[in-house]
Amino acid sequence: MTWGKATDAQLLQVLHDTHVSLGIPPFPTPKSARPLVVTKKSNQYSVRHYVDVKVCRPLSWNLVGNGASYELCGHIWYDEGKGCLEVQDHPDRNIHVRLIAGTCFRFECPICYRKTCAREASRISERFERIPKVQGSRDQSAEAPAPGLGRPIHVVVSVPEIEADMVDGQTLSCHGGKFKLKSNYSMLRRKAYKIAKKAGFKGGCCIFHPFANDKMHEDSQEEAIWDKTKEGVDLKWLKGYFDEQDRHVSFWYKRPHFHFIGYGWIEGAGELHESTGWIVKNLGVRESVYHTALYQLSHAGVKKGTQVVTWMGCMGNGVYYKL
Ligand SMILES: [Zn+2]
Ligand SMILES: [Zn+2]
Repeated sequence: MTWGKATDAQLLQVLHDTHVSLGIPPFPTPKSARPLVVTKKSNQYSVRHYVDVKVCRPLSWNLVGNGASYELCGHIWYDEGKGCLEVQDHPDRNIHVRLIAGTCFRFECPICYRKTCAREASRISERFERIPKVQGSRDQSAEAPAPGLGRPIHVVVSVPEIEADMVDGQTLSCHGGKFKLKSNYSMLRRKAYKIAKKAGFKGGCCIFHPFANDKMHEDSQEEAIWDKTKEGVDLKWLKGYFDEQDRHVSFWYKRPHFHFIGYGWIEGAGELHESTGWIVKNLGVRESVYHTALYQLSHAGVKKGTQVVTWMGCMGNGVYYKL
């Protein structure tokens, strides 16, 4: 037998024998004689390009919190604070003071990114709250159904391998004798919008993830318990939440994908995959928009000159005021 002329069955037999000789139990041979049809629905790349997410790439994509902080980030002024002096209204008759730490609210700041994510997540949730809800419905929360739009869903749109290089770099184009330098990412994102709309997504917010890891749970929305009675963000809770995230898993690889939270009904994802190579996955109705947003933001991609959260479709910045 020569390697070049060996049939698949022969090669498989060699692999099988090798495994057995190494003490590895081999794959059981499938009983079905039908030709193999791929049933797995995930974007499998031929090369898995691992990245060290703790190395900061100043000109490229980083995870949130992977940049440089400012001098005053996290600084507490012990001689200043916000509070209330109306002691007669306080049950313990004491003055209430809260110390305020310096916060730059940049996604790349290693000290402030948690607060930034929390603030952005509540902004996202607020924007969903402002969408007019079904008449007479008592539920006016961000998750309530909107007339003609239904409840907010979570959709993941993954970039195929041939277009994965588009996350970086720029393209020079010529329009009517004028040159224009455009970032490839902006074109990629526009394509992702188009694909999402074709699949039936009406509009919402979009968060880009340049990397993925095997232990990441794209759909974990119920893990965190959030006390809704408390106002604002409990910083201790927030720190614990971020520490528990799978950001610390070391094996991250390049696998660009877009997360959409918004309205729509996803249909025909199979045909879309066949014609374009892109994968649209519906992760279903949201129990909490805030949580989904916070979780997605905690792994979001940050790059100088691009926005972390963008709005598109029926919730885009241009049409939003009409709603
Ligand atoms: Zn900061
Ligand atoms: Zn993701």
